[in-house]
Amino acid sequence: MGMADGIEPVVIIGAGPAGIACAWRLAQLGFSPVILEKESFPRDKVCGDALSGKVVSLLQKLGGEELVRDLADQPFAYAACALDFFDEKGRSVRLSFPPKGNIPQGFVAPRKEWDAWLASRLPPQVRMWTGVRVRGVELTKRGWEIVGEGMPPIYARFVVGADGVTSRVAPWVWRFRGLSRPPVYPAVRAYVAGNSLDGLHLYFRQPYLPGYFWVFPLRGDKLNVGIGLPDWAVRKRGLSLRQQLRRECSEVVEVQGHGIPVSLSERPLTGPGCALVGDAAALTDPFTGEGIGNALLSGIRLAEALARVSPKDWVQVDWERLYTRPLYRELRRELQMTRLLHRLARFPGVVNAMIGFLHRYPSWAVPFLRWYGAL
Ligand SMILES: Cc1cc2nc3c(=O)[nH]c(=O)nc-3n(C[C@H](O)[C@H](O)[C@H](O)COP(=O)(O)OP(=O)(O)OC[C@H]3O[C@@H](n4cnc5c(N)ncnc54)[C@H](O)[C@@H]3O)c2cc1C
Repeated sequence: MGMADGIEPVVIIGAGPAGIACAWRLAQLGFSPVILEKESFPRDKVCGDALSGKVVSLLQKLGGEELVRDLADQPFAYAACALDFFDEKGRSVRLSFPPKGNIPQGFVAPRKEWDAWLASRLPPQVRMWTGVRVRGVELTKRGWEIVGEGMPPIYARFVVGADGVTSRVAPWVWRFRGLSRPPVYPAVRAYVAGNSLDGLHLYFRQPYLPGYFWVFPLRGDKLNVGIGLPDWAVRKRGLSLRQQLRRECSEVVEVQGHGIPVSLSERPLTGPGCALVGDAAALTDPFTGEGIGNALLSGIRLAEALARVSPKDWVQVDWERLYTRPLYRELRRELQMTRLLHRLARFPGVVNAMIGFLHRYPSWAVPFLRWYGAL
C-alpha cells in the first residue's frame, strides 16, 4: 500500500536496525513505507558491534536462514561463539553459544558495514531517502507534516520514530504527557589493532560498576574496545571515559562517544498516529547495553500492530493497547532480569561472588543464561 491523495501511509524516521526492521516487516505485510535517513550509507554508529542470538533469530524471522548465511559470508562479519565475563580478581566465566547447524548464534560486525548491508537487503517495496535530516514533525489536519533538510515537506498518516536517542518524534509521546526523557548512559568506543581473542570479553570491575569495559574481536585483526556505565556513576566518580579508555588500552587513537537510552521502567511508546521503536523508545538492556535485538523486535511488532488496523483508523486507535503493552509483555521477564542484575552490579562484592561462583561451577553458566533469557 503506497501513497494516495499525496499522503504517505507510513513514514519511518531513521534507518538504523529499528527503522529497517519496521519497514521490512511492513513490506512483507503489503505496505510500501518510506524511510527518511539523515546520513548516506555506509555510515558509522558508535556501538560495541555485538549482534546477539536474539538479533540472529530476528534476522531469520525477517529474511529466513538465507539472510543469516548471507551475513555469515560477509567479509566484515566475525562469527562469535563465546562471551567471557571477568571480575576484579581476574576470574572469568565463559558462556558459549556454538553454531546451530552451521548457523552462528552471534556476530561482531562493525555497524558501518552491518547497517549498510542490512539496508541493501530491504525488500524493493521500501522507499528509502538518504541524506535527509528531519527537523520536525507536526500533527496537522492532513496528518503528520514532516519537514527537514534536503527534502520537500511530506505528509504521513502514521509516523514512526526510529531516529535513536535524539528522536524528533519522542516529544510527541513523552513531553505531551508531562514525562521526562528516559535515562541515557554515556559510553565510548574505539577500534584498535589486535586478534588474539576467541570470545567477547566483558570486564566487570571498578571504577565502571554497574557498567563494564569491553574488548570484542572483529574480522581483519581489529578489536572494538569501549566503556559504558550510568551517568550518575560517571559524575560521582569524576570519570572521563575517554581518558579511562586510553588508560585501559594504550593503542587507542580516536575515541567516539554516544548515549545509551536504557530501559529502567515501562513507558508509553505511542501518540495519535505515531510510535517509537528501538533507542527512540529506550529499550536497551541496562545491564549489558545491548539494544539491537530490541530495536529489531520493536520495529517488527509495531509493523504487525499497524497491519492489524485499517489505515483510516490509525490516528484514533489506542496504540498503547495494540503495540506498547504487548511489546512490554513480551519483554517483561527479560527486562526485569536485566534491571535486577543492573541493580546488583552496583556492588563489587556481589559481582565478584556471582562470577566467582560460575568460575568454580562452570556447568551453572548455561542454566544461568537460560534464566537470564539469553539462550
Ligand atoms: C558505545 C555503545 C555500544 C553499544 N554496544 C552495543 C552492542 O554491542 N550490541 C547491541 O546490541 N547494542 C549496543 N549498543 C546499543 C545499540 O547501538 C542501539 O541500541 C541500536 O543502535 C539502536 O538502534 P536504532 O535503530 O533504534 O537507533 P540507531 O542505530 O541510533 O539508528 C537511528 C538512525 O536514525 C537516523 N536519524 C537520527 N536522527 C535523524 C533525523 N533527525 N532525521 C533522519 N534520520 C535521523 C540516524 O542517522 C540513524 O541511522 C551500544 C550503544 C553504544 C552507544
